[in-house]
Amino acid sequence: MIVIIGGGICGLAIGWRLAQAGESVTIFERGEAGMEATWAAAGMLAPQIEAEYGEEMLLPLAMASREQWPEFARELEAETGIGVDYREEGTMQVALDRDDQEALDHRHEFLTRNGLEIEKLSGYEARQREPHLARAVTGAIFSPRDHQVDNRLAAAALRAVFEKAGGTLREHITVEEIMIKAGRAVGIRADSEEISADHVVLAAGAWSRNIPGMPDEARPPVRPLKGQMIALEMPDGMPLIDHVVWGPGNSIVSNVYLAPKSDGRLIVGATVEEMGFDTRMTGGGLFELLRAAWEVLPGIYDLPVLDSWAGLRPASRDDAPILGPSAIEGLTLATGHHRNGILLAPVTASEIAGYIREGDVSDLMRPFLVDRFTTSASAPPVTESV
Ligand code: FAD
Repeated sequence: MIVIIGGGICGLAIGWRLAQAGESVTIFERGEAGMEATWAAAGMLAPQIEAEYGEEMLLPLAMASREQWPEFARELEAETGIGVDYREEGTMQVALDRDDQEALDHRHEFLTRNGLEIEKLSGYEARQREPHLARAVTGAIFSPRDHQVDNRLAAAALRAVFEKAGGTLREHITVEEIMIKAGRAVGIRADSEEISADHVVLAAGAWSRNIPGMPDEARPPVRPLKGQMIALEMPDGMPLIDHVVWGPGNSIVSNVYLAPKSDGRLIVGATVEEMGFDTRMTGGGLFELLRAAWEVLPGIYDLPVLDSWAGLRPASRDDAPILGPSAIEGLTLATGHHRNGILLAPVTASEIAGYIREGDVSDLMRPFLVDRFTTSASAPPVTESV
C-alpha cells in the first residue's frame, strides 16, 4: 500500500496515476483536498512567460508538463464530466514605459535564445488584440502556447477521478509522524493510529519540511511564500480581456497578472511575501495589486470585487520542485513546486508514479533530486506560528 501525505494537486494527481496503474493508494489530507495552494492559484500554465534568468534547468520539465496538459484536461473531463476550463488564447506581457520596454526586449531575446516561440508586439498591435489595455502600453510580448486552466475545477476533477480509480481519500486527518525504522519509511501515524505502508509520498506543499519523524537531514528545504490574490467580476458575456495579461509590478508584486476565467472572474495576482505561514490579507497587498492591475487595464476600476485570499507557495531554495527519492528509503518527495505547481502537476504525477513503480530516476527528473541541496537540507523546520 502507498500512502500520500497531502491532498493538493500534486498528491491527487500522483494518487490518480498510481491508482490507475492498479496500486492501492490512500491520501491523507489534514483539511479538505485541494483547498491550500492548489485553491489559491491562478491556474496559469505559462512556462515561457514565467521563465526567469538563471532558471533554465526548469524549462524542459515545465515544457514537458505543458505538453501533457491538453490530454490531462481532456482525460479529467471525460472521466468525471467536470469541465476544467482549459483555455488556449495565450499569454501577453505588456510594458508601460521605456524601462519596462527595455526589460521586455531583454526577455524577448532570452526566450528566443532558448528556442521558445514568442512574438513581439507594438503597443498598437497589443491593443488590437486586447482593446481595453491602457493607452500607456508601449509594447508587448505574446506567448501563444502559454495557456490556463481553472485550478479549482481541476482539483475537483482530480479528486473525483482518483476515487473513481479506486484510491482512498481520508480528509480532516493530520499526518503526525512519518514512521521510520532502520532508515526506511514503514508508514505514518495519523489520529494516533499507526498505518503501515510499503511506500510514503511526501506531497504536503509548504508544510513538507515540518512533518515529524524525519531526521533533519532528510527534510526537504521547502518554505512558505505568501501570495495575495483578488477576484473581480467581469460583465456577463463581456469579458474585459480574453488572454492572460501580465504587467509590471511594484514593491510586493513582482509582476501583476490578470487571468480571465470563463465564469466571469478576473483573477488579479499576486504578491510575493516572506511571511511564514501568515495568510492574512493586508491593506498594502490589496492596494498594490489593484494599483498595478489598474495601470495595465484601467477598466477594472468599475468592476465589483468578488473575493480575496492568500495562499502559500511551497518554495525551494532554487525555486524548482523537489522530486524523487529522499535520504530515507521508501520515502519519495513531490514538493517545492513554488509558483508552478498547477503547470507541473501532470509531469509530477507521471514521473513520481513511474519512479515508485519502476524504481528508476528518469533523465527528466534527475535535475530535481533533493541531493542538489547537499548543504541546505539540514536546517530545522520552519515554525508555524504567525
Ligand atoms: P498544496 O496545494 O498546498 O497541497 C498540500 C496539502 O498538504 C494541503 O492540502 C495541506 O492541507 C496538506 N497537508 C499539509 N500538512 C499535512 C499533514 N501533516 N497531514 C496531512 N495533510 C497535510 N502554479 C501554477 O502552476 N500556476 C499559477 O498560476 C499559480 N498561481 C499561484 C498563485 C498563488 C497566490 C499561489 C499561492 C500559488 C500559485 N501557484 C501557481 C503555485 C501552485 O498553487 C502550487 O505550486 C501548487 O498548488 C502546489 O501543490 P501541492 O499539492 O504541492 O500543495
